[in-house]
Amino acid sequence: MKVSSLKLVDYRNYEKLELKFYDDLNIFIGCNAQGKTNILEAVYYAACGSSFRSSTDSELVRWNAPGGSISLGFQRFGVENQLDFTFYRDKRRTIAYNGRKISVKELIGAVNVVLFAPDDLQLIKGAPAGRRRFLDMEISQASPAYYHELIKYNRLLQQRNSLLKEIRERRAGRDMLEYWNPQLAESAAKITAKRLEAVKKFNMLANLMQKRISGNEENLSIAYQIKGSENEPIAGNLKIWYNEMLTRSGEEDVYRGVTGIGPHRDDIIISVNGINLRSFGSQGQQRTGVLAMKLSELEFIRSETGEYPILLLDDVMSELDAGRRQQLLSFIGREGIQTLITATDEAYFDMQSVGRYFRVAAGSVAGAGYGKADG
Ligand code: ATP
Ligand code: MG
Repeated sequence: MKVSSLKLVDYRNYEKLELKFYDDLNIFIGCNAQGKTNILEAVYYAACGSSFRSSTDSELVRWNAPGGSISLGFQRFGVENQLDFTFYRDKRRTIAYNGRKISVKELIGAVNVVLFAPDDLQLIKGAPAGRRRFLDMEISQASPAYYHELIKYNRLLQQRNSLLKEIRERRAGRDMLEYWNPQLAESAAKITAKRLEAVKKFNMLANLMQKRISGNEENLSIAYQIKGSENEPIAGNLKIWYNEMLTRSGEEDVYRGVTGIGPHRDDIIISVNGINLRSFGSQGQQRTGVLAMKLSELEFIRSETGEYPILLLDDVMSELDAGRRQQLLSFIGREGIQTLITATDEAYFDMQSVGRYFRVAAGSVAGAGYGKADG
């Protein structure tokens, strides 16, 4: 799929902007704080219905303006479509898809994007919750049934946790756990099985990407870690194991008031050449690792939807060495993935690289032309 045009009115630092995108590489060059990320954010917003930087829509409205808008033209299997978002300071935003009002639920899936932003390093450096969320989002895009199972699991978990507190306060009997444990175990087993399967596929794809970017120097491996299995190997099936573990941990769970075992406590371990990336990876290796995971999302979405998503790369160049930058650009070019990329310096792109340069300065975007931007 491709994005063809973007129109912004009173959005962030843009009073008015109209852009047409090229089908391959779109390079946004400018100094700090000029509005490069704002453009990527607008495209991301149109695809996902929310920003990766702000939780409230009112922050998106240009200062002192009463409201603003984003309009995105895009092609899906060659058919042109249009999305319009209108924001107000004091009212809820509206979304229109080809002129028809829709809810955010209907929006999901219309435009697929994969974003790489500097904060994504948290995927490797941060807490396990971020890695679980990444995995869950990846699987949910492909399998709505998984998404529904997650909702069910979380509801059961909340119910068991409330019960644990009631038992602790002696407002409920311990035998009530026997009612909830098997249900939670069944749902936990379904989620874990699906995650194990996805990590297997993902491990292969991400490793392919890591090798590509590092010029065959590095092997990336992603392994799923089931909480509790390090002390108590899984014998038999997952459902039985979970039930056994939940039963056994009942006393401690009551004491703590939360459930200590289950997919809500699992993690994925990411290693490069056998070394844990989180603890021992260099900054550049970690950056490459996140990038490899993001790029494997491209393949994953393509295998599900039949088209590559749009790739949004914010500030990715500054932390990769010249070799890795070159590998990344040639991969994107080879596969014909439409990419929007920001950088502060055009020197990151060599003269020969096919790409169109947009110059971003103080909320305006100037000219685009083949090859290196002049002056
Ligand atoms: P960097 O290279 O530092 O990442 P950038 O070009 O990506 O810079 P952006 O994050 O796109 O910069 O834009 C930041 C600019 O937008 C800042 O000057 C900020 O003050 C401005 N800005 C952010 N929100 C609003 C808003 N609601 N109204 C007006 N201006 C805003
Ligand atoms: Mg930026």
